[in-house]
Amino acid sequence: MQEADILIHNCTILPMNGKDAIIENGLIATKKDKILYVGRETKAPKTKAAITIDGRGKVATPGLINCHTHLPMTLFRGIAEDQPLTTWLTQTIWPLEAKLTPNDIYQGALLGCLENIKNGTTTFADMYFHEEKIAKAVEKAGLRAVLAPGIIEAENREKGERMLKESVEFAQKYNGYADGRVTAQLGPHAVYTCSPQLLTQTREEASKLGIGMHIHVAESKQMAKLVKKRYGLTEIELLESINFLKSNVLAAHCIYLTEKEMRIMAKQNVKVSYNPTANMKIASGTPKIKTLIDLGITVGIGTDGPASNNNLDMFKEMKTAALLQKIRYMNPTVLQAQQVLEMATTDGAKSLGLEKTVGSLEVGKKADIILIDFRKPHLTPVHDPYANIVYSARGSDVDTVIVDGKLLMEGRKVKTLDEEEVMQKAQQTASELLTR
Ligand SMILES: [Zn+2]
Repeated sequence: MQEADILIHNCTILPMNGKDAIIENGLIATKKDKILYVGRETKAPKTKAAITIDGRGKVATPGLINCHTHLPMTLFRGIAEDQPLTTWLTQTIWPLEAKLTPNDIYQGALLGCLENIKNGTTTFADMYFHEEKIAKAVEKAGLRAVLAPGIIEAENREKGERMLKESVEFAQKYNGYADGRVTAQLGPHAVYTCSPQLLTQTREEASKLGIGMHIHVAESKQMAKLVKKRYGLTEIELLESINFLKSNVLAAHCIYLTEKEMRIMAKQNVKVSYNPTANMKIASGTPKIKTLIDLGITVGIGTDGPASNNNLDMFKEMKTAALLQKIRYMNPTVLQAQQVLEMATTDGAKSLGLEKTVGSLEVGKKADIILIDFRKPHLTPVHDPYANIVYSARGSDVDTVIVDGKLLMEGRKVKTLDEEEVMQKAQQTASELLTR
């Protein structure tokens, strides 16, 4: 008799491991933080466990991975709507961000963590200020995250260098934090907000630390033009000229890229986060994701900050991701359902350098698992579970969430956070912020 900690019986399993097809009447066993068994129930060795979950009518997938967000911006949800990017940033977001205290950031991050659990997102990549507070929220919530303190120089060398120094200190302290669920990256905000000198220094520090970097690339036409005018190079050309680009660089957005830039990114194995809702909402533009994928570039999906989305629901993001690309190429065969779920799981893990740890349901990988309850009118009938997940499901269909072998939510009840308290404190924090 094999001993496990959690057993999920009788579920449909989408392992997302690139080999196995859909497993019906499946069994998943977890032991400590890892997956012990995944496969047909009838072929499983006899196993007992302290916790057993009835998986009938439910579909198990790897936890979803959000490749680009600014989690504490949950506090700014709905605060400034339907404005151009520069107005939105300069008149509302930046003045409010200047008033944020570390505790505000903690409350906003807890709200974001709660929203992630309730929507089946088990890992997210974040760039913001006071990432140590976000690390604490992640620890409490039980989630997994890749955290990059944002570095913004904005023509102030001293400020840029100080932010870089603080980011290095953050990485030294928090890479591997919360039983390894937190990993650190450096987060130079963008080419238009950081000088080539600072970007070079950041690359050197990241290489010394052996960690990745998260940066906004070619998000806006205006900024792409500004960079070209200032340096005579496009954003990716500039990054390539200072040897910034490596396989552990995650580039968010990537809308205004030339063919040459795409080829450079493919050569250097740069990863991309595609954030369709935010791109549409701010009318930034539409990246050519199919072209990037055809060049062999790994693309994950992100929600971006909840102020420009306005939520963290990766199910909505998957659907939007597919639909927007179909329109971009005027071709309904572009980004098919299974491929989109791969982008939100396996490719997301690759984008964050976590492919050995998470992103698929395989023996020996971390037990980051979600169960989606298909016993709903909008998920009936089931011909193709991938299509149901990408085109019909919502975050609220997620019934159970396991991260690192721990149950974070069961029957939609979150076990690690007091849901009422988190929402009430976030509301209070957001209201107070406006009166400061
Ligand atoms: Zn962003």
